[in-house]
Amino acid sequence: MGDGPVAELEAARRTLLNRVAAEIRETGDVTGCLTLSEPVWQALATVPRHRFVADQQRDWAYANMPLPIGRGQTISQPFIVALMTELLVPDPAMTILEIGTGSGYQTAVLARLVRRIHSIERIPELAEAAVRRLREMDINTVEIRVGDGGQGWEEHAPFDGIIVTAAAAEVPPALVRQLKPGGRLVIPVGAPGHTQDLRVIHKDGQGAVFSRSVLPVVFVPLIPDPT
Ligand code: SAH
Repeated sequence: MGDGPVAELEAARRTLLNRVAAEIRETGDVTGCLTLSEPVWQALATVPRHRFVADQQRDWAYANMPLPIGRGQTISQPFIVALMTELLVPDPAMTILEIGTGSGYQTAVLARLVRRIHSIERIPELAEAAVRRLREMDINTVEIRVGDGGQGWEEHAPFDGIIVTAAAAEVPPALVRQLKPGGRLVIPVGAPGHTQDLRVIHKDGQGAVFSRSVLPVVFVPLIPDPT
């Protein structure tokens, strides 16, 4: 491959970042998130989204839209990845639980920002592909397992933050329980097929729980545990 396609991807990535930053500003009044912090900007700027999509999708990798990743699932829209990442208020000391690994793109963005990530994916093929991609990128602070994220991951709890990238009909109580005091759970809540409500659930230092609606969003549904 010559310089052409690489330069093109770079230009597309810069354009996308500017679009995402603009959308964060434009929605700031509603979301309460007025600007992209420098670390989150850097994380978005350095994770190559084109490596998380199939070759057929590559031309669209830096468009500000969700893309299919197989099995009826999607890699989230970059603006939503940026917003959800900011809402977690990431810092380098944190351990995060992620539900819905999917392509591993959101995971890779978070891996640039926090100490450790435990990520749960329901569909084995997607989990395997994500493990392979992250390994190829030398990201080794992430542990992925196949399972139902609605139960959380007791063994590693409590978490400094939890991010759910599929829509839950209700906030899973296990996830609230597995949040540390001071921690945040970022989750789309609502019936599948409708617009959902992106929420931040904050557990304060005393363990009291507060919920804030941030933005209407559309996610694929969390697939319930068959057992
Ligand atoms: N964050 C992903 C987007 C994932 S789409 C990315 O950046 O690519 C939502 C993902 O949640 C899908 O991969 C889907 O298989 C997964 N999922 C659905 N129900 C789940 C459940 N109960 N537990 C864990 N993962 C689930």
